[in-house]
Amino acid sequence: MLFSLTVLPGDGIGPEVTEQAVLVLRAVADRFGHQLQLQPKLIGGAALKAANDPLPPDTVQACLDSSAVLLGAVGSPEFDKNPGHLRPEAGLLRIRRELGAYANLRPAVFFPALEDSSPLRAEIVRGTDIMIVRELLGGAYFGQPRSIEGKPGARVAVNTMRYAEHEVERIARVAFDLAMKRKKKVLSVDKANVLECSRLWRDVVTRIGKDYPEVKLGHQYVDSAAMLLVQRPTDFDVVLTENMFGDILSDQAGGVVGSLGLLASASIGGKVGLYEPVHGSAPDIAGKGIANPLGAILSAAMLLRHSLHLEREAACIEQAVATVLSQGARTADLAGKTHPSISTADMGSRVVMLVKEVK
Ligand code: NAD
Repeated sequence: MLFSLTVLPGDGIGPEVTEQAVLVLRAVADRFGHQLQLQPKLIGGAALKAANDPLPPDTVQACLDSSAVLLGAVGSPEFDKNPGHLRPEAGLLRIRRELGAYANLRPAVFFPALEDSSPLRAEIVRGTDIMIVRELLGGAYFGQPRSIEGKPGARVAVNTMRYAEHEVERIARVAFDLAMKRKKKVLSVDKANVLECSRLWRDVVTRIGKDYPEVKLGHQYVDSAAMLLVQRPTDFDVVLTENMFGDILSDQAGGVVGSLGLLASASIGGKVGLYEPVHGSAPDIAGKGIANPLGAILSAAMLLRHSLHLEREAACIEQAVATVLSQGARTADLAGKTHPSISTADMGSRVVMLVKEVK
């Protein structure tokens, strides 16, 4: 089959890790007989430099015309003093909105080879496989009104948490559909003892849950969910939650399983899916060739699964990554004192080699 993808390498280590993810995608396509058309476009600081716009119109159009979008990372200290709309991160928020991506999937999977990387004891974290489904376009991050008003010393700040029923319903369906392909468990996380938004959330999720009688639905307040996530991470399957709670819990879940450099994400639900590693542009290590490309590579696997519906191809990449780690390959962020570290390119080519071999 022929697929057209837009690739947005972005800034800092974005281009370095995206290059490896693209090499892996090409290897998978060769192996399974697909054709990939890849169109690179600018976003973030790279786009600001070229066009004084963190998301130029031709980038948006290319994304909307493609089967899926693979993004590296955005952000650069040289734009730190720019006004909000002329910062690299504004490009990222805008592309998510332009694509209508309301569902953010953040897997937190424990790799047995990385027992030492988790801050938790191996017997607690072993077997962890969590899929966080975070609502991405609503809640306090987007609600109006929002403001800071008043004179210094007496200022008042306002944010508005807002959810409409249809917004809860559509994200709930994403979570239940995913659960049907996993362990058939959804934990909906809210703060229904305090927030009206959460009471509506719980009500709607419970109603949608009735359409999925095979899925076991639970509800948990966000504070106790945060505690359980570190006490018993293996109890979780699909976690469904609103924007801000999901932002926080997904980072926590990532921390439970190990390095930031390993974490992948998908933003779906709109016309075109957007796939990106969870990490940022890491200016402290950019250009050194030492960044971990596995988060980007695992994001490419999510792209194959969720946008192109190529499950075997996605699983092939995931298996290659697990094998590479079990063989002891470590970039600097994972190496610790026990392993020598290898470069970004070396890690990528090991995955490519295995993708070609995996049965
Ligand atoms: P960061 O994720 O870029 O880096 C945090 C730490 O993790 C750094 O020490 C970095 O070296 C390390 N790290 C991150 N990814 C790594 C990888 N693949 N391999 C090895 N080490 C890795 O977060 P930050 O430092 O808070 O932000 C840097 C810039 O990135 C900022 O401009 C921020 O706005 C932006 N940012 C962008 C995104 C995104 O594009 N989705 C996400 C977060 C931050």
